[in-house]
Amino acid sequence: MNNEEKQPSSLESLRSELNGINRQLLELLSRRAETVREIGRIKEKQGGPEFDPVREQEMLTELVAANPGPFDDKTIRHLFKQIFQASLDLQVQERKKELLVSRRVRKEDTTIQLGSTVIGGGRPVMIAGPCSVESYEQTRAAAAALKAAGVTVMRGGAFKPRTSPYDFQGLGIEGLRILKEVAAEFGLKTISEIVDPAHVELAAEYIDVIQIGARNMQNFELLKAAGGVKTPILLKRGLAATIDEFLNAAEYILAGGNSQVMLIERGIRTYEKATRNTLDISAVPILKQESHLPVLVDVTHSTGRKDIMAPCAKAALAAGADGIMVEVHPNPAVALSDAAQQLDIPQFERFMADVRSSGLLKDGVLA
Ligand code: PEP
Ligand code: MN
Repeated sequence: MNNEEKQPSSLESLRSELNGINRQLLELLSRRAETVREIGRIKEKQGGPEFDPVREQEMLTELVAANPGPFDDKTIRHLFKQIFQASLDLQVQERKKELLVSRRVRKEDTTIQLGSTVIGGGRPVMIAGPCSVESYEQTRAAAAALKAAGVTVMRGGAFKPRTSPYDFQGLGIEGLRILKEVAAEFGLKTISEIVDPAHVELAAEYIDVIQIGARNMQNFELLKAAGGVKTPILLKRGLAATIDEFLNAAEYILAGGNSQVMLIERGIRTYEKATRNTLDISAVPILKQESHLPVLVDVTHSTGRKDIMAPCAKAALAAGADGIMVEVHPNPAVALSDAAQQLDIPQFERFMADVRSSGLLKDGVLA
């Protein structure tokens, strides 16, 4: 250093020196961040965790040992911990993958084509049918009425996940066979729940959409099996699943290679006893925002109450739902499952008329 530089500096020149140091620090911090990123990429390839506490401790010890002052060791530790944390955040951010179900990955709505019916294409769909396929006659009677009411997609459970092992468990494959035969007669598309991963491939021979029920939303082997076929999947929200868990469950199916997935809100468990479950209407616009997948609302299992199904269906449509699911039985009094909450045919006709007249449908038509 020459004599001139050793002269006491003016405030101005000290300030400009400080600015220069700030920029150097910034440059060094940016270089450090780049190096950390590089390390992060190598670690990711090796499958290691981002955070290595031993390594962080070593770096801090080395820095404190080399501390020339005037900052005390505690301050040096504090400052560098902040820098380490910022670097770790950077690594975590880099590793965080966007989900395939996310709108950030795909801007356009996913649509599911079922014959001439398109789900998610802007015209809401009404999916109706009995809780369970009980017999050929019962299924045929339901189908005839649904067809007459303009329904194109019929539901009917063949494998019933029941709370009690002593309750009707469904007709199994025979139920799927009945559904297929009846649907062919009336030109309807069908949805039915599959509970066993071993049945996922076989299901395509009988039905058009595989339903994965609320109780199986996190049955990961079933989700993986659903990802391995081309059949559209209707995934129900788990009884106590968060929206994040719901989307991650759908992600399993997309990650497996099947992008034909629909989400259905069917009510969640809360302390409220006035309804069977609590219909989470807010989930509809959130799911629509977060994901490109069609979002439907099951007004039967969410409310469990016939008297409020129409207003709840309207609320769902107003919130942006791509469709409604409702259970309809030709004679609910003798239904083998969910007898109390299935609509009979005249009730369904009134329900349809009510929803159609709500002004929530483009042209008063439910697909
Ligand atoms: C069903 O839709 O038949 C059913 C059992 O519903 P969830 O899985 O929503 O209880
Ligand atoms: Mn039911």
